[in-house]
Amino acid sequence: MRLDAYLGPEGPTLVVHAPAKLNLFLEVLGRRGDGFHELETLMVTVSLHDTLRFTEEPTPAIRLRCHGRGDLSEVPSGDDNLVVRAARLLQEHTGTSRGARIDLWKRIPVAAGLAGGSTDAATTLVALDRLWELDLAPEELSSLAARLGSDVAFFVSGVPAAICRGRGEEIHPVRLPLGLPVVIARPSGGLSTAEVFRHCQLAASPRSVQPLIDALATGRIAAASRLLHNSLQPTAEALKPEIQQLITHLSHQPLLQPLMTGSGTACFGLCVSHRLAHRTARRLRGQGLAHVVAGRLGT
Ligand code: ATP
Repeated sequence: MRLDAYLGPEGPTLVVHAPAKLNLFLEVLGRRGDGFHELETLMVTVSLHDTLRFTEEPTPAIRLRCHGRGDLSEVPSGDDNLVVRAARLLQEHTGTSRGARIDLWKRIPVAAGLAGGSTDAATTLVALDRLWELDLAPEELSSLAARLGSDVAFFVSGVPAAICRGRGEEIHPVRLPLGLPVVIARPSGGLSTAEVFRHCQLAASPRSVQPLIDALATGRIAAASRLLHNSLQPTAEALKPEIQQLITHLSHQPLLQPLMTGSGTACFGLCVSHRLAHRTARRLRGQGLAHVVAGRLGT
C-alpha cells in the first residue's frame, strides 16, 4: 500500500491507496473445528484500489465518510464498516484516546471476492498506527488483522504476492514478476463469502500451487494461465449463474483463461499487453458490462 503523509489545514494527514487482490490459485483443503476452512491460495495485489484519508480528531471519536461514484448502499457507513472496526480495535488494544476522521473513496466492487473491506481494514490499522504514533510490532498488527478477517493480514504484510495458508492469515511472500496486464469484470450483484464456503466441496486430491509459481516466476505466462485454479468457482457458479455467463463472455476476448477470484463474483483474465487490456475493457463496457476495469498485477 502507498502511504503519503502531509501537513494539511486540519493537521497531520495520511492518504493511502488500498489495493484489491486477486486469487490466482485457491484450493480448499479441509474444514476446521472453528468453522473456517483450511486453504492454500496465491494472492496478488492489483492496481484497482480504494483511497483513504486519515486526519486526527481532537476527541477519541472515529468519524467515517464514504464517497464514490456508484451505489454505496452495500457499504456500511457506521460501526459495521471494517474501517471503523479496525480503528476501534486499535483503540481498545492500545488504550489510546486519540481519534480520527476518515474519508473512504470506494472503487473496489463490494462482495466481489476482491477483498475491498479487508484492504480498507488493513490500511486503517497501518495508517492509524502511524498517525497515532503507536509503533506496534508487525506481529502485533498481524494478529489484530487476523481478528478482523482472514484476508486482512495479507494486506498488512505489505507484500504484493504471497501464498496464504491456514484460513488465509499465514502469509508466505513469493517473488513474482509484477505488472502483468489484467482485465477484471463483475456481474451485477455480489455473493456472500460465508454462503459460498458453506456449500463448497473439498478437493479429493488437492492441486499444488508450485507449478503456477514456477511458470509465473520464469515468465511463461501462457503456461501459467493454464494453471490458474479456483476450487470455489463451481459452487459460486451454481449459486449465481451470471458468473458462468461472464466467464464464457470473457473467454471470447483476447484474455488468457479467465478465472473467478476468491468467493466471487468478480472474474479476471490476464492479457498480453496493457494496450490490449484497455481496449478489451472498453469493448466489454460497450457490450453492456457495467463493472469492468483494466489494470495490472502488483501495486
Ligand atoms: P472477502 O474478503 O470475504 O473475500 P469480498 O471481497 O467478497 O470479501 P467485501 O467487498 O470485502 O467482499 O465486502 C464484504 C462485506 O463487508 C460487504 O457485504 C460489506 O457490507 C461489508 N463491509 C464492511 N466494511 C466494508 C468496506 N470498507 N468496504 C466494503 N465492504 C465492507
